[in-house]
Amino acid sequence: MKTALCLLNAAWVALARLGRLTPFGRLKRPKAPAQGGTPKTGSGAGGQPGPAPAQNGTAKAGSCAGGQPGPVTDHFDGKRFRNPWGDAERSFPDLLRWMFSRGSVPWPARVPVRVRHVPPERVHGEGLRVTVVGHATVLIQTGGVNILTDPVWSEHAGPLGVFGPKRTREPGLPLEALPPIDAVLVTHNHYDHLDLKTLAALQRLHAPRFIAPLGNCGLMAQGSGGMDCTELDWWRGVELAPGVRVHAAPAHHWSARGILDRRDALWGSFVIEAPGGPLVFFGDTGYGEGQAFRLIRERFGDVRLALLPIGAYEPRWFMSGAHMNPEEAVLAMRDLGARRAIALHHGVFKLTDEGIGQPLVDLRAALKKHGVEEGVFLTPEVGEGLTM
Ligand SMILES: [Zn+2]
Repeated sequence: MKTALCLLNAAWVALARLGRLTPFGRLKRPKAPAQGGTPKTGSGAGGQPGPAPAQNGTAKAGSCAGGQPGPVTDHFDGKRFRNPWGDAERSFPDLLRWMFSRGSVPWPARVPVRVRHVPPERVHGEGLRVTVVGHATVLIQTGGVNILTDPVWSEHAGPLGVFGPKRTREPGLPLEALPPIDAVLVTHNHYDHLDLKTLAALQRLHAPRFIAPLGNCGLMAQGSGGMDCTELDWWRGVELAPGVRVHAAPAHHWSARGILDRRDALWGSFVIEAPGGPLVFFGDTGYGEGQAFRLIRERFGDVRLALLPIGAYEPRWFMSGAHMNPEEAVLAMRDLGARRAIALHHGVFKLTDEGIGQPLVDLRAALKKHGVEEGVFLTPEVGEGLTM
C-alpha cells in the first residue's frame, strides 16, 4: 500500500512538472490540490529551548523512504508536523470554493525595478544592511556575515523554475552581483520560498552553509552535491560566526511539494542573534493569535528588526491560516517588540486574490489605525538596500 502511495506521489510529481501546479496548492483551473517535487529527509532535534547542536540532515527519511525526521514534540506527532496552535491548511472543498470564486484582481504582466542598490562586500559589528531582492528573498549583512533568506531567482515560483506563477518584478539584484554568501536560510518547502535551481546556483557560486527546519535538506541538496545543509528544530540554533547565531523558530504555516508529503517537512521562521540585537525573519506565516511572535520575544527579548510578510492574504476565509494580512503584520511587529519592521512577500508573485498594490495600501491604513510612527514599518522597493 505504502509503495503504491509513493508511486502515486511520483506520478503527481511528474504531473506537476507538466506545469499544472502553482506554489502552494492552487491549480490554475480545476484538477487537484497541491504541488510537485518530493522532499523527505532529515534528522531530528528536540523541541526544547536554548542552543543545541545542529542536526546535519543529509540522510533519507520520511514517509516514502522510511524513518522519521525528529522526535515527538508539540509540533510533530511522530508522522507529521503540525502547528501547536491549530491547523493552517484548508480542505480540498475549500480550495475548490476559492478556485471558483473569481474574486481575483488582475496584476500587470511586468513592473520595472526602479532601484538597484549594490550591497557592500560586508558589514561589520552592529552595522546592518538589508537589501530586498524580492518576495521573501533578502540579503542581510551584519556582524561580518552575509545571509540570504528564501532565495528565489527563477522566473517562475513553481516546479523546475519554469512553471507556476511568473514573477512580475525581476530580482532586485542579479545572482552574480551578490557579495560572498556565508549562509542561506530556507523557511519551508513551498515553491516561492525553496527554489532548487537557485539553491544549486548558490552552491556553485558560494558553497554557503544552508540552514532549514527539519526534513528539508534532502530536497534542497538535490542536484547540489556536497551541499553543507543543517536542519534545525524550532528553538535550536547554530553559530555562523563569533557573535552571530541563527535559530529556527515557529511560524503558523504548513508544507508540501506533492500530494502525499503534506507536513512531512517542518516550516518555521528564523531568529538571527547579532551584535546589534536580534533580527527575525518570517517567510510565510499566519498570525494565529500571535503566539509565535510572543514566544520569540520571550526567548530572545525585544527585536531590533522584524522582516515580515504582508502579501498573499485574500480571501481571508481561505488564506488567514497560512498568511498574515498587513494589519496582522503590524500586530506581529508589536508582539515581537520590534523597533523596526520591513514589509516583504508582496508585489513579485501573484499568489492570491488581492491587487498588486493592495498590501501597501492596507499596511498604511493599519499603521495609522494602530498609531505607528512613520519610519518604523518600512516598505523598501525591490532592489532597495537599507542601512540601519
Ligand atoms: Zn508557504
